[in-house]
Amino acid sequence: MLNLDYHPTGRHFLQIPGPSPVPDRILRAMSLPTIDHRGPEFAELGKRVLSGIQQIFQTRHPVVIYPASGTGAWEAALTNVLSPGDQVLMYETGHFASLWIKMASRLGLNAQVVGLPGVEGWRRGVQASMIEEKLKADSGHAIKAVCVVHNETSTGVTSNIAAVRKAIDAAKHPALLLVDSISGLASAEYKHDDWGVDVTVSGSQKGLMLPPGISFNALSPKAIEASKSAKLPKAFWAWDEIIEMNKTGYFPYTPSTNLLYGLAEACDMLLDPTHGGLEATFARHQRWAEGVRGAVKAWGLEIQCADASVYSPVLTGVITPEGVDADAVRKIIYERFDCSLGTGLGKVKGRMFRIGHLGDCNDLTLMAALSGCEMGLKLAGVKLAGSGVQAAMDFFASHPAHVPMQKAA
Ligand code: PLP
Repeated sequence: MLNLDYHPTGRHFLQIPGPSPVPDRILRAMSLPTIDHRGPEFAELGKRVLSGIQQIFQTRHPVVIYPASGTGAWEAALTNVLSPGDQVLMYETGHFASLWIKMASRLGLNAQVVGLPGVEGWRRGVQASMIEEKLKADSGHAIKAVCVVHNETSTGVTSNIAAVRKAIDAAKHPALLLVDSISGLASAEYKHDDWGVDVTVSGSQKGLMLPPGISFNALSPKAIEASKSAKLPKAFWAWDEIIEMNKTGYFPYTPSTNLLYGLAEACDMLLDPTHGGLEATFARHQRWAEGVRGAVKAWGLEIQCADASVYSPVLTGVITPEGVDADAVRKIIYERFDCSLGTGLGKVKGRMFRIGHLGDCNDLTLMAALSGCEMGLKLAGVKLAGSGVQAAMDFFASHPAHVPMQKAA
């Protein structure tokens, strides 16, 4: 039987790229008693989280919160703005992009897949020029939406969403822009309004540092307009009733009250100006990512992302040498050092593992995870070029965080 009550040997190192470790402050907030979701106190909470999450998405427009995992919010984004048989241009950056493509087909959409071929295509971000070309060729405007993943969690590649917006504008095409930032939001820079995104999909269990269970659609006025005539079947996911009731701080169904307590706390933490707000959050993840990449390079191993301009600040994919099963390395690290790493997914299964650097994390958490990796790689018989742990220590020691980890007493 699973017994996580008592850990005489310290905490498990949850270094997967989501769910991420939840800070104690958030766990405490979520332990408050569940309240009446139709009572006056709830309206306060509802308004607080709806305003907080708008600031995280950097939007002035409505954000819909669902009691569902990110997959539900994916479905909500598609069904609210599209009709059966609509053409959608979907860029395949990795496993999660391919799952969204599969969902679009299952919903009866006509998914046109674009992307660089083969495994190489999973090592680079969205090539906006390919999207521009496809849209320019679509003179009849049959394509109704462009779908891209901001931070591809399966590979550790972050795409340039502003460039995709530019490509759509350069083609003078009216397609909506739908973006999955499930693992990017609140870790990697994200600007829903400034980047002209119509629907951003996100989830609770990554940069927001919450357990899994709630997810989001951030909207644009154009998306809300499109939802009025979209014909794909929807009821639970329909935005209209939710947006209407949210105006008073309530939801048309029973919301996940305790996760919303956690969300209120997460927004306070992420937006706290004494800790530098969102800018400091983004800088913190960039710095951790750089330290981890330094370790991988010192080991002499290859990083899954092959384009330095789109390295993910959220996670790093590590390719194991030919003939070394990445999952066997992960198993050793899990069993010997109580540390979970992300598995290779889809096309890259067994070829790489993923180190998450998000959630309740700091330099020393990462140093511990990296030492687990280094010991595990050696135990698996991998010949390392040098010590990644030493490289990361050197990096973190010589690059202090812009905002101190702890406020001076
Ligand atoms: N999209 C991305 C980029 C993800 O990382 C994930 C989950 O890890 C999903 C979609 C699916 O979300 P969920 O597992 O919460 O349903």
